[in-house]
Amino acid sequence: MVDFAIVLNAGSSSLKFSLYKRMDTGTWGLEARGQIDGIGTSPRFTASDGAGNGLADDRLDGHVDARGALDALAAWLRSRYQGSSVVGVGHRVVHGGARYPRPTIVTPEVLEDLRQLVPLAPLHQPYNLAAIDAVIERLPGVPQVACFDTSFHRGQPAVAEVVPLPRELCRGGVQRYGFHGLSYEYIASVLPTAAPEIARGRVIVAHLGSGASLCAMNDGKSVDSTLGFTALDGLCMGTRPGSIDPGVILYLFQGLGLSASEVETVLYKKSGLLGVSGISNDMRVLLGSSAPGARLAVDYFVYRAAKEIGALAAVLGGIDGLVFTAGIGENSTEIRKRICEASAWLGIELDEAANDRHGPRISRSGSRVSAWMIPTNEELIIARHTGVLLGLLQTRV
Ligand code: ADP
Repeated sequence: MVDFAIVLNAGSSSLKFSLYKRMDTGTWGLEARGQIDGIGTSPRFTASDGAGNGLADDRLDGHVDARGALDALAAWLRSRYQGSSVVGVGHRVVHGGARYPRPTIVTPEVLEDLRQLVPLAPLHQPYNLAAIDAVIERLPGVPQVACFDTSFHRGQPAVAEVVPLPRELCRGGVQRYGFHGLSYEYIASVLPTAAPEIARGRVIVAHLGSGASLCAMNDGKSVDSTLGFTALDGLCMGTRPGSIDPGVILYLFQGLGLSASEVETVLYKKSGLLGVSGISNDMRVLLGSSAPGARLAVDYFVYRAAKEIGALAAVLGGIDGLVFTAGIGENSTEIRKRICEASAWLGIELDEAANDRHGPRISRSGSRVSAWMIPTNEELIIARHTGVLLGLLQTRV
């Protein structure tokens, strides 16, 4: 019988997966990876094999929700890999809170703890945990590992974790956690080969996707990041505002009389690029539009990123490199160009031709601070942790 390990990254509008197969040598090889995206609007299932050859590209029924996406993936896996055994499942879980500074094997107690964190990450945590529940139902007894977006940031200096409210209010775990840690951990792991001259230095990584943040790294370790207690802080995001004056939130309650759940919806689903533009949360749509709202939203996205890069450069005492990753960071030459130009004062000189070719190095050879585009791979980091925690030996990649 062939052994497989599965990695799941379940979100509200997409379900990403990777499938690893135990080879005769005892190592693990990537067998397939893919995603169901457009969940809730126009779901589409795509998958490719370890070499990148297409295995599936199907439109799914428009009514497929997050649960339906897991069912569709299970059906595809069953039909394609019938008779195989699943020896472990690794999950992306956005929030590990103060209790889980490292990836952990899922037990009923762990799951209960993680459910308590749903209000701190309402856009992600429920979907991450629903995927764990679905595996418990379908594959009872198969060990599961939760890998947290908060873990990579643990070990930051105390000042970077402070939320400066009265101590008694912070006792229940009110501190800055930071997110996108699986992505940053991947980037840190490949810097020594992808960008050796900056790997031991002071680096800002810009994870720019629907969610967006920056991480300040020194010698591959996180020293600060722009996301905090929740994934609402810092940069302007697709539907989240990033940092705003907390007085605005008070005004939403006291001045406009909004309820807590209405404010939550405003902050998580209606703000950021969507709120400012009034058009879309998708950077591609905004870059292709000449509407004033779209232009302002893109201008604000770049402005905010450049401003926070300056702040993290101060934290690091200067920088040696800037790395772009995630959907916008990997694909948008325009946004990378504009952020690099706005950060030219730091010593970044963009190489436009290299930027148009998507790098990996996108700065000129003489540039005092180098800039890079490195695609992220959160699933690979989850696979590694899952392999180690479940004793599945080296997960080959
Ligand atoms: P997440 O995993 O947080 O859902 P991704 O990292 O996949 O997000 O990034 C998704 C975003 O990337 C999309 O919302 C879109 O705005 C942006 N994006 C993808 N391709 C491009 C592109 N070619 N130009 C600009 N933005 C892009």
